Amino acid sequence: MEAFLATNPYFSAGFGLIGVGAGLAVLRNGGMQIATIARRRLLVTVEIPSKDPSYAWFLKWASTATASNREHSTSLLANLLRSNQLSVETSFRTRETGKSLASFALVPAPGRHFVQHKGAWLLIERAREKSMLDLKTGTPWETVTVSALARDRQLVIDILEDAKSAALAEEEGKTVVYTSYGPEWRPFGAPRRRRDIGSVVLDDGISDHLVSDVEAFLANGKWYHERGIPYRRGYLLYGPPGSGKTSFIQSLAGHLDYNICVMNLSERGMTDDRLAHLLANAPPRSLILLEDIDAAFTKHRDQAKEGFQSMVTFSGLLNALDGVAASEERLVFMTTNHISRLDPALIRPGRADVKVKIDNSSDSQTRNMFLRFYPNATADVANAFVNAVKPVSGNACDRVSPASLQGHFVLHRDDPEGALRNVSMLTSPQSEF
Ligand code: ADP
Repeated sequence: MEAFLATNPYFSAGFGLIGVGAGLAVLRNGGMQIATIARRRLLVTVEIPSKDPSYAWFLKWASTATASNREHSTSLLANLLRSNQLSVETSFRTRETGKSLASFALVPAPGRHFVQHKGAWLLIERAREKSMLDLKTGTPWETVTVSALARDRQLVIDILEDAKSAALAEEEGKTVVYTSYGPEWRPFGAPRRRRDIGSVVLDDGISDHLVSDVEAFLANGKWYHERGIPYRRGYLLYGPPGSGKTSFIQSLAGHLDYNICVMNLSERGMTDDRLAHLLANAPPRSLILLEDIDAAFTKHRDQAKEGFQSMVTFSGLLNALDGVAASEERLVFMTTNHISRLDPALIRPGRADVKVKIDNSSDSQTRNMFLRFYPNATADVANAFVNAVKPVSGNACDRVSPASLQGHFVLHRDDPEGALRNVSMLTSPQSEF
């Protein structure tokens, strides 16, 4: 029998194959282990999940041929281009003139990319999980892994630092506007240039009063904490449209070096829970802005007719405003054109601690705006202009809005006499305030 097995060519070939297979398996395992050890020892690998702020910074870094480091970036881009695996990320920017600009950045597409940076080789792997979604945002879960030789570890850290500084430099001196995206806050468009608070001309003393109130609140965190009072303050700015409510809040954010979270209560899919979560989890150093707060509930009725409904209830809004205060301060600004339509419960102290009317332009406001637009105009021309726009009735409702004054001054750029001559072009606002 043994002899038979030994002499049978099929059996011996079979054993031979088993032996070769086993040998290969050992080699393969050994090889894999060696590769793993080599990878651990020789490579430094940094994984950046899409949830992490560095993720966007890194992709942006990889995409921009920055002027400051043109040589390296172009070589990086050239390498990426050679790999022919790019995906496009489009961003929109709105110019001051209202014109929208779109810019396209080529970022490494999902897959592997070998790139050379400052003489070292990096492996960038962008992986997209097909079966995993970020439950919060509904977007595919992604990670970028950057591997470099261990001796180049500092290079990877430097890249992340560079990417962060570049992103933060873009925000510096600017206000980031966040909007709610599902249950989280996301930057909306590129950071906006700050508006000088003095450029929003409010009636005498209003701007100073608001600024000092907010500053005093921010300086007194200890006082609130010691007394166990929720550290939050609500402001309601009310008055006719075009009087500068939104512009003032934006410039105030810039003045305080804060960002703005704009909350849209009528957003589809917004629920009480989501609202409470968003208000309690606003990014640090940001003002929360609830615009046209009166419209949120009247609009709902219309939307219901169209077949979909926002799920925020009035009591849900009150609860969210009262919600357990986060350890950080919370500043909520509400605006409305119709204070009379607001439920008193919404604007009682604790929810709206400071209520300020921002009205159509008073004489002093008109004069100040005129002189801001025409710094070289004489006091006589400024006064003549103020008298010319004064409503005959003396009624505040018939005053012009700062927004229409701004439009008139833009039309008569560098021409104060023209602005005075054509004052009749300023139509009296028809309003019900
Ligand atoms: P509101 O929020 O009260 O409706 P906005 O802040 O949106 O008004 O203002 C609309 C436009 O009018 C903006 O372009 C703004 O620059 C201008 N404007 C309104 N009020 C003022 C003001 N008080 N001072 C300077 N500009 C103003």
